Amino acid sequence: MRQIGIEAREGGAIRAINNTISNNQTHVFAIGPNGYGYISGNIIQGNGAEGVWSGGNFKQDESMEMNEEGASRAVLNDNIIRQNGLSGISFDGGYFEVKGNKITFNWLWGMMVKSRSYSYILDNEISENKCGGIRIGINYTAAVFINGNTIRDHIGPSIYTVSSIENSLKTSRRRKTLEKKVKPIPVGDGEINGESREPFIFSTNFLNDNERGIQHPQDIFCMIEACCFCRKISQQLKFCSRCKKAKYCSKDCQTNHWIQHKHMCKLLNASYVVEVQMSDTEPNNLGRPTEHGKSYGANQRAFDPKLVGIGKGTPPDSSSCKRFIVKIQSGREYGCYDPYKKLIVYDQTVTFDIQLSNPELYHLCNECGVLTGHKVTTKKIFCWASFKNNGQTICFHTDNLPPFQTW
Ligand SMILES: [Zn+2]
Ligand SMILES: [Zn+2]
Repeated sequence: MRQIGIEAREGGAIRAINNTISNNQTHVFAIGPNGYGYISGNIIQGNGAEGVWSGGNFKQDESMEMNEEGASRAVLNDNIIRQNGLSGISFDGGYFEVKGNKITFNWLWGMMVKSRSYSYILDNEISENKCGGIRIGINYTAAVFINGNTIRDHIGPSIYTVSSIENSLKTSRRRKTLEKKVKPIPVGDGEINGESREPFIFSTNFLNDNERGIQHPQDIFCMIEACCFCRKISQQLKFCSRCKKAKYCSKDCQTNHWIQHKHMCKLLNASYVVEVQMSDTEPNNLGRPTEHGKSYGANQRAFDPKLVGIGKGTPPDSSSCKRFIVKIQSGREYGCYDPYKKLIVYDQTVTFDIQLSNPELYHLCNECGVLTGHKVTTKKIFCWASFKNNGQTICFHTDNLPPFQTW
């Protein structure tokens, strides 16, 4: 389908059992606002956006009472949700049960839960999603139960929750000082804007090998004897004839994976160098508006104070071919898979500070990099770079990666 696979909204209902649904440009299932869904035994793979999105807003009347109009309800059982171009599942307000699913290898998180999504997440296998396992965003007082799941092999966190209500109540002194500075905005019965209830995470979950940190492209391929697309474990996998690293159980899986793998495939050749003409890049300080509507000059970007050493060091010399370390960062938060999306690249001194579009570096950053400060979906990686042709060409070397930098 060009657009959404199946949609149920405004009282509509979906019952989908044992289908294979692939290659839609956006969501497969969109349930809401005010939709109902029973999704069981399906294979939901290779779609442009989330495998399943369900939500709709809880409305609020003047008396600050919550009104359920808009909230959706969905049950997701025993589905395989993999290789989708956003998160596997995204909940945006409603009541949900997610049980016995395999949620793996999605471009962002395995699951995103926010906007008052009451969720039971039971007995799922959540693995190898690019950002992490489960991210609980601003979910107010809605309870999330996470029980009996296997959450493994993520570069990022297994379960990540934004500032939680329980934690900030515990440290009430901190809360009082905060309240003096910024008046908390009540948004619902006992709810404060920007906070989430701590999820109930049971000891029956099996959390293994998450927070792996930055990985070399080769490292993400030699984890287990499993097909790179469907993750089937087999002794008879065939290797990609070009990189001899990616392996597949069938021709179909290889064809399905090639859409993305063709970019990563090149980086798996240790002698491959990504070369970008400087004339194809743009300076990164252009069009960055300030409060007064003017652009910042060079080097006047605001950086998080946690980035130790940013702005220090020796600027790279464009007439030399000496290697220096750059940070490559993916752009806008929560965007669909798009290998031509702009990346930001800068060195420690921020004198070299450009935007460029390059599918191999996009894959390097998103597949091998770690989440930046706010841990939503923006990623970063450090890489060796050097100039060529008197600064007209910038080369990115991935034969080895530099040590992790604090800036
Ligand atoms: Zn396969
Ligand atoms: Zn390959």
